This record gives sequence, structure tokens and C-alpha cells, in this order.
Amino acid sequence: MGTKRKPAGLGEDNEPPRASPKPVFRVDDTTPEVVQSVLLERGWSRFNGRSQDGDDWDLYWRTPPFPVTKHVSLQPWQQLNHHPGTSRLTRKDDLAKLLRHMQGAHGAGLYTFIPLTFVLPNEYHKFVAEYSREMLRTNPGYWICKPAELSRGRGISIFRDIRDLAFDDTCVVQKYICNPLLVGHYKCDLRIYVCVTAFQPLTAYIYQEGLVRFATEKFDLRNLRSDYAHLTNSSINRSGPSYGACKEVIGRGCKWLLSRLFSYLRLRGVDDGLLWRQICRLAILTLLAAAPGIPTAANCFELLGFDVLVDDSFKPWLLEVNYSPALTQHCTTDVSLKRELIHDVIELVHGAGAHVWGWAGNRTSSAEDQGHRDRPSKGRGPLPCWPHLQVVGRALSQGEPFAIRGRARGTGPQATQACMPRESMPEQDRLSTWTELPRAKARVRSRLTQRKSSALQSHSCRPASSPGPPPSNSSECPKPQVGNFILIFPFNKATFQASRKRLNVKGIMHELQKFMSKQECLVAESGMDTRGTLRAFKGLHMGHRPRELLYSH
Ligand code: ADP
Repeated sequence: MGTKRKPAGLGEDNEPPRASPKPVFRVDDTTPEVVQSVLLERGWSRFNGRSQDGDDWDLYWRTPPFPVTKHVSLQPWQQLNHHPGTSRLTRKDDLAKLLRHMQGAHGAGLYTFIPLTFVLPNEYHKFVAEYSREMLRTNPGYWICKPAELSRGRGISIFRDIRDLAFDDTCVVQKYICNPLLVGHYKCDLRIYVCVTAFQPLTAYIYQEGLVRFATEKFDLRNLRSDYAHLTNSSINRSGPSYGACKEVIGRGCKWLLSRLFSYLRLRGVDDGLLWRQICRLAILTLLAAAPGIPTAANCFELLGFDVLVDDSFKPWLLEVNYSPALTQHCTTDVSLKRELIHDVIELVHGAGAHVWGWAGNRTSSAEDQGHRDRPSKGRGPLPCWPHLQVVGRALSQGEPFAIRGRARGTGPQATQACMPRESMPEQDRLSTWTELPRAKARVRSRLTQRKSSALQSHSCRPASSPGPPPSNSSECPKPQVGNFILIFPFNKATFQASRKRLNVKGIMHELQKFMSKQECLVAESGMDTRGTLRAFKGLHMGHRPRELLYSH
């Protein structure tokens, strides 16, 4: 057994900083390969249970959830890549109930992004009543039945006639979106990555790159049995006969980067900025639905995969939220996205600590880090930038308000402070000189102690809304951007305050509504008209040139 280790980089009081030990990550059989290789590339070392103390690690990353005992026994310097209680978001039936509850509590107007859903068998009669109403219409719609607990398209069926509905276990039956956005006649959906660094106070970041996953047979409602035409899961389409063929517009394979789709849409006159803002809003509203019921736990984070389907009027619909989104690398698109994504997750959850503990200062000369620093600079991708309402990172404890600037349209990440590279962040967000280290160490010590006690409280799975000490960092403003991650919640001073101590969901909804109506005004003022865009897009599909590009970027 080795000796107990301090958090990497913490020396004795008044000692000059020493070369810090490498941070250590722990894995098991389920840890994705890309996570391990990125951590090694960043100069971390792998935990070895035979030669190291049981607590001698900083980050444990695995695919399934951790048992509660693991959360309880966490040391203050350790982090887990899962938060307890997030199945409320990631089980299809729980998510449907949560969002329906929010529709009831906050008005149907905000939560319009989930297709009408019934949880079977419990809501079978309600479904039959809705189905019967639908059948009276001249052109009744279609339904999709999805097992509540399965993933990767397994057990899914699409039907119009209720006699084709079959299920054994809990499942959701959902209105089938039969007017999806088609690219070259192929259906697609979007995989959006959201990293929640804390549920209490809620702190969430969206990744400004993602995946577009295509079906590999042309969309055709006359053939509901073709999974290759109706399901966009890569696990299905990878084995389809047309996977390797060069398909109209989308080419070979079944994936694009999200930025490629957005450029494609932008070139065709679609307001990709508006679509992106709607996706960010959908992510915030979904997290807000779940956050109050998620137990408080310290030193953990959750990377979630939101599956979003865009219809042909450019409305995004939430299909589901994935736990441990796939990090396998099956094609070059996967490779280029997922390595960067993991680098940025590590930067997000460990980067700030690295500065305080001095890892960054000690490690910057290593060859591995050189490689990391040479990665393309962030925030310059072609995706339109969220904060339409830009949050400028300032510590609120210093009495500085968030500066919020409205923008009528995306001017590109590089032009905004919210998207600036880490190096140009406000001074108070960084710890750059060694003279600051003793003060920082003291701060870290007290924070670690508080974190520890907060972690212990998670044992009781206290609901986030119940009374209790606020987390140690509740007065600190989260960084507006880390790598390609952009802070989406809190998004201004009011939501920052409303999310401290107890989550004031009502107040936050009010803020969101205010911002939404402001956005709508901006859209109206600038003469944007989604229908016009749609006409232009459809014209293009029919082989005509759009009359005009409605928005210039
Ligand atoms: P899974 O967890 O099995 O992947 P999803 O809910 O993500 O389940 O559905 C799988 C695929 O089915 C989606 O990627 C999408 O292509 C299609 N799909 C799911 N729900 C709908 C819907 N309501 N309308 C249209 N297509 C849908």
C-alpha cells in the first residue's frame, strides 16, 4: 500500500511549489477507450490498485452509475463522472412524466418540444382516447412505440393502426414526427452534448459541436417497417446495405458534424442561429424539470447526450436524453469530435482546479501537453454561438453584474466575449502567478473541506430544494466558456441568483419567458420569418434557387 496522497500539486504551507505529481484516473472494464487515451495524453496516469493506496486517484470515469456508497466515501479531491439520480432524465418514461408535469405547472407554452407521449401500460386508456380522436381526422398521424429502458433503437416500432401496437414491458408511445427535416431525402437527428457540472446549484454547459446521425435509406412513410429509413441510430445504420454507398447529399456513412449541417442550412437561407438558440432553450428547460428532484452530491458531473429531431419547419423536438452517450469511434467524424469533447470535459471539470493547484503551471512544458495546446483554438467553429444573451464572466461576489447583450443574429463565436479563448478570460477567472498560490491553497483547503461535508450530505439523498448549507462555490460565477463548452445555465444574473441555495424554478421560467419574448421581438424587428425561410428551403429541395437568402451571417 502506498502512502495517502494529497490532491495533486498541494505542497506544505509556505513551501515553494514543487513539481506536482501527475493526476491519477481510475477506470474499469466499461471506461471508454477515448477517455483513457485523452487522459494519458494530458499527462494523467492510470490508477494501479496493486501499488497505490485505494484513495490515490482524482477522477473515476465509467459507463454505468456508481453505487451510493462510492459517492459517500469520496475524498475531497476525487471526482466521479456520474451524478446520482439522473435517471429521471434518461429513462424515457420518467422524462415524459417530468416534462408533462412541467407543462402543467408552468403552462404548455414553454414545454412544447416533446412530442405527445403516453407511458404504457399505465396510460393505455388515455392513449386509446387520443388515438380515437386522431382517427376521426382526414389524415390521421403515426405513432412510435419505444421500450422505456432500451437504447440504440432496440425494440422500436412505428404504426398507424393500433392493431400493430405490441409491447411487453413499460414503453412510451409517442406521436411520430412524420415531417422530419430531410437532407437529400434522408432523415436525421442531432446528438447534442450537455455537461452538467452541478445540479445544485444548477450549472450546465452545452458543447458547440455535435453529431448529425442519418438514416441510410430514403424517408418513406409508405414503408414503416424499414428501420434504415425511419431510425437514425448509428448502431442500426452502420449495418445497413447503403451505409458505405455514396448517398445523395449526405455521402458515405451515416454521420456529419453538427457544424456541417448548420453550414449546409445557413447556405440555404435557414436561420441556424435561431435553431441553435431553441436547442439551448430546450436543454435548459429539460434540466430545470429534473434538477429540483436530483439529490445533492458533490464532486461529480454528468455528460449527457440530448437526441434532437428537427422537423421541416426547423422546430427542434427532444426525443430523449442519453446517459453515458456513446464515446466509441467508428468513423472519422466520431474521431474528430469525441477526442476534442473529452479534452474539453476534462478541462471543464478539472481545469479550474488545475489552475488553483498549479498543475497547469507545472505541466505546460511536457510533450503531451504541447500536443494538447496545439489543438485548434476553440470557439471558432461555424456553429452559431449561444448566449444570444451573452454572459460575461465576472465574479458576482465582487458585486459585478453579468453583462447581457442582446444580438439579433449570430456573428460567430470569435466575435463574442462569451466565446473567447481561455487565455483571454477575465483576470479574476484565472490564477496565473505563483505568488497567488498560498492564498489559493488556503481557499482550496477550505473548499475541499466544505466539499467533503457536502459530499457526505449526499448520503441522505437530500432533495436539492430542501434546506441545507449552500455548496461551497455557490457565490462563484461559473466560467462562461471552457474549450468548446458554453455556459447555458445560469445565463444571467437573475438566473444565477435564482439557482443558489434553493432552485427557484418559477423565477427562472419567468426570466426565460422574458428573454424569449425579447428574442421574438428581435426576430420580428429584423424581418425574419421562419415560413419564408422554409419556403426558400423547400424551393431548393425542388431544384429551384431560393428567392433570396433571408439572413446573412
Ligand atoms: P433509442 O434510445 O432506442 O435510441 P430514441 O428515442 O432515441 O430511442 O429513438 C430512436 C430513433 O427513432 C431516433 O433516433 C429517431 O430517429 C427515431 N424517433 C424516435 N422518436 C421519434 C419520434 N417521436 N418521431 C420521429 N422519429 C422518432
